[in-house]
Amino acid sequence: MDILDKHYRTEDHVFIYDNATTHKKCADDALSARHMPKYPPNPNGKGRKKGENWGVKVPLLGPNGNVIHGSDGKVVKVFKKMADAQFSDGRPQPLYFPDDHPQYPGLFKGMAVILEERGFSNARSLKAECKGFKCAPGITDCCCQRILFNQPDFVGVKSLLEDVCERRGYRVIFLPKFHPELNFIEMCWGYAKRVYCQFPISSDPMILEKNALAALESIPLLSMRRFSNRSLRFMDGYRCGLNGSEAIWAVKKYHGHRCLPPELVHEIEFERKKAAATS
Ligand SMILES: [Zn+2]
Repeated sequence: MDILDKHYRTEDHVFIYDNATTHKKCADDALSARHMPKYPPNPNGKGRKKGENWGVKVPLLGPNGNVIHGSDGKVVKVFKKMADAQFSDGRPQPLYFPDDHPQYPGLFKGMAVILEERGFSNARSLKAECKGFKCAPGITDCCCQRILFNQPDFVGVKSLLEDVCERRGYRVIFLPKFHPELNFIEMCWGYAKRVYCQFPISSDPMILEKNALAALESIPLLSMRRFSNRSLRFMDGYRCGLNGSEAIWAVKKYHGHRCLPPELVHEIEFERKKAAATS
């Protein structure tokens, strides 16, 4: 983003990432309806430990930003309040009572109150959650957790990556899972790996690093453009309704194109009918 800010300020940039868990990771305190209790913790100590608030456990970071490990080797975690939710009109909805609340100072409101504040007056009469959160298919108002789970602010929680990029004015798109053919950088890795394998075997980390950089540097710009066009053709093929093997066939057949020709759909239809007639 720093490079784009510096050299390509006037362009409109979209970052494309694959659907890896690391790319989709949300902030530790991001909204999540799972595991929320229905009512505030009892300040007098029944149920939860006395005074224990509900929130998320986040790793404790040292001064250098690294996680801290306890004597048992486990990462030390500390309590953090969940981030504010948002009403449909955009106002923030704190999930915790104010610190000067007479009954529940600073404590988690619980799903019933959160829903009541959103106009669900029957929230107290609903179950906290259906067993194992396995609600009946198609039903969206069976339990507090299901209703909250489907609220726009809970659905639209952004990943850390999206958040960082969008705050700086860059749009992010995630590719569908298990479709590396849509991500042309995968073909670049493939090219670099082929080159890397041709270097003599070595166990010296310095040489290996040099080889890796040389392999990455070796990918010609023209090849990158071809890989990019190949991914665009796959995208076009899927948009036309082709399945995996049809898309592979079409991408190969029209390898000089950025997108697939419009008559392709008719051609595929014809081939499908022919195949159906002969089977
Ligand atoms: Zn339910």
